[in-house]
Amino acid sequence: MIFNIQKCSIHDGDGLRTLVFFKGCPLRCLWCANPESQHYQKEILESPVRCVGCNVCRTVCPQGAIQEDGRIDRTLCDNCFACIDVCYADSKKIAGTDYTVEALYQEIEKDKGFYTRYGGGVTFSGGEPLTHGSFLTQIAKRCKEGNLHVMVESCGYAKYEEFAPALPYIDAMFMDIKQIDAEKHKAMTGADNALILENIRRIAAFGIPITARTPVIPGYTDQLENIEGIARFIAEVPGIKAYELLAYHEFGKPKYQALGKAYPLEGVKPPTDEAMRELVRRANQILEPSGKECFWTKDNIKEVVK
Ligand code: SF4
Ligand code: SF4
Repeated sequence: MIFNIQKCSIHDGDGLRTLVFFKGCPLRCLWCANPESQHYQKEILESPVRCVGCNVCRTVCPQGAIQEDGRIDRTLCDNCFACIDVCYADSKKIAGTDYTVEALYQEIEKDKGFYTRYGGGVTFSGGEPLTHGSFLTQIAKRCKEGNLHVMVESCGYAKYEEFAPALPYIDAMFMDIKQIDAEKHKAMTGADNALILENIRRIAAFGIPITARTPVIPGYTDQLENIEGIARFIAEVPGIKAYELLAYHEFGKPKYQALGKAYPLEGVKPPTDEAMRELVRRANQILEPSGKECFWTKDNIKEVVK
């Protein structure tokens, strides 16, 4: 199940890329910018500003779950999706579309001309693509047969045996290391980091070049000791080629409203440029002997601060 296909991305791998977002993730990071990616089932996204108040959806709802203002009471809704078909204003949509391998490949292949010309390809993201091991293996294999460059973005929390068959068809990966302290990692994502660090070691040993990434979330992952600890881990693992810090943003906030959920990080502000540069500088001091580099991207310009 795929919840989004985004074309012409320049931020998630080399060249112009098509991003394919798998639906379903085992982690629950408090700062998740794609909360509609978390559940493995289809969900309704609501856009109240589109609602014209026609009340048609209320007349078809078998659960009486739709309130006078058109909003869904999620405690009553059983996801029958009857309201989706009747909303001509597009105020309610389903997040999650089932694809066959070939249908998804045909969608990806439409932009093959761009990939060839600008050195891009496809990046499978999520959600967590590694937890869709069988489908990921088939679609990655199909893309390689079509001579496409294949990348995967992953939180790393998946059973190695389930995604291992996909590895021969993956050219490079982005893998998150969010918090080096296992207990803190569990508190902010729902799981500790042991499986993630082990998977990174195993994928690196398999020979896939990895860029490690840390989302810098003030109050959660932005402590100097966290970035230092992650940089030391990266320095030790030969297959990790680079380290990227990603500054927290609030772009995902409206999606929580669309899902009828409260935003978990209300009031948390993005880190300052100075704070980002200081973290990058410190990581680079640790990484220097290993020949690796830490960077972040500001206004589409990559900055390596030393
Ligand atoms: S059918 Fe759509 S536009 Fe009409 S009340 Fe329901 S959500 Fe609003
Ligand atoms: S999906 Fe939920 S809100 Fe929509 S008609 Fe079905 S029960 Fe009612």
